[in-house]
Amino acid sequence: MSWVARDEAVVWHGFTQMSCFAENAPVIVERAEGRELIDVEGRRYLDAISSLWVNTLGHRVPELDRAVREQLDRVAHSTLLGNGNRAAIELAEALAPRVPVEDPHFLFASDGAAAVEQALKIAFQFWANQGVRGRTTYLALGQAYHGDTVGSISLGAGGFGTDVFDPLRFPVRRSPGYDDPSWADTAVSLIEEHAPELAAVVLEPLVQGAAGILVTDPESVRRVAQACHRADVLLIVDEVATGFGRTGSLFATEQCGVRADLACMGKGITGGYLPLSATAASPRVYEAFLGPDLGERTFYHGHSYSGNALACAVARRHLELMDEWEVIAGVRERAALLAELLRERITPLPAVREVRQRGLMVGVELAPPEDGLRWGRRTCAAAVDRGVLLRPLGDVVVLMPILTTTPDELRRIVDVLAEAIDVVCTG
Ligand SMILES: *Cc1c(COP(=O)(O)O)cnc(C)c1O
Repeated sequence: MSWVARDEAVVWHGFTQMSCFAENAPVIVERAEGRELIDVEGRRYLDAISSLWVNTLGHRVPELDRAVREQLDRVAHSTLLGNGNRAAIELAEALAPRVPVEDPHFLFASDGAAAVEQALKIAFQFWANQGVRGRTTYLALGQAYHGDTVGSISLGAGGFGTDVFDPLRFPVRRSPGYDDPSWADTAVSLIEEHAPELAAVVLEPLVQGAAGILVTDPESVRRVAQACHRADVLLIVDEVATGFGRTGSLFATEQCGVRADLACMGKGITGGYLPLSATAASPRVYEAFLGPDLGERTFYHGHSYSGNALACAVARRHLELMDEWEVIAGVRERAALLAELLRERITPLPAVREVRQRGLMVGVELAPPEDGLRWGRRTCAAAVDRGVLLRPLGDVVVLMPILTTTPDELRRIVDVLAEAIDVVCTG
């Protein structure tokens, strides 16, 4: 039996219509080298989506492999509920001065959605613990995506076929997404108007990723952050996609010159090695939970694999490598080259509506003349045929190259994309 048939027989893939799984020619990965994935037939694919936005430095990075192996010789996992482990402490110490929250405490989990879920519950209980009534809702943005748990889909703007869950979603205040140039003005007035009912404002700083790489400017984010501050509403930044270098700074919030009360991180935190996420909380938030042992102020929430030692060890080594290899400076250089290549080769194509970019996060929005042509899907399939792994969001082709992608590899990605668009959209 083929690997695809075996896969289909027992695996249920997320965001995938399984009845069409096989005919969409899925890549079945067996191993990897550098920035290439190698499938069960030995075919190679340049990983131009960073394995769905998680990989930062490449696959099988010897230093990261070693960090996992060394931790394996100590312990793979021990619980963080009531007890500690050295790997989690060392990671939290290393992250503390780098995250966009002052003097943070970290609550670890394993997925981005869980980090967001924790932040929501923390913000909610923060007010309750202080006896403040009525601050029980959130302001979230149009087009937002924060993960797939029930809390995070409530913050999310919907779409992706998730409307069926509408009855489960709790209501939130909603201001426009980054596709509306006046999104920040509306957000600021909603914050001013509804502050007494808002526990927190939640946003993806600079880039709304899953919305199709919608981008905004640092000044707009700063204005919204300042409105939160003035109205005494907590600010939660969801850095799950933007964190760990993707936008040309370690966190996108840095570029906005603000600090958040809570920051959610995931995806790139381990360089794409192991599932780990974290919610960072400011002292003001953290201290509102201090009180008598077994008391009501405690945050009664935690996950079995919170602070997994293998994941924390690789995450700490990853953070060191970001500095040792000067990854952020490299991202800026590569982003400039990529912008130039896109301007020359992709933007002028008649089938392209818009190219949006922040750092190494790019959305190429196609302009199909009618619905149902599946240009996004077919363009990515044509790129995969040519050895470049891409995955669309609707008719937006997302380029999310690994942060260490070489100039030649960037040229290859753009060449292949241009050819794929040509074949699908003008062929
Ligand atoms: C991917 C993503 C999430 C969810 O992370 P998972 O690890 O997939 O649960 C949350 N927020 C943003 C901005 C994301 O891009």
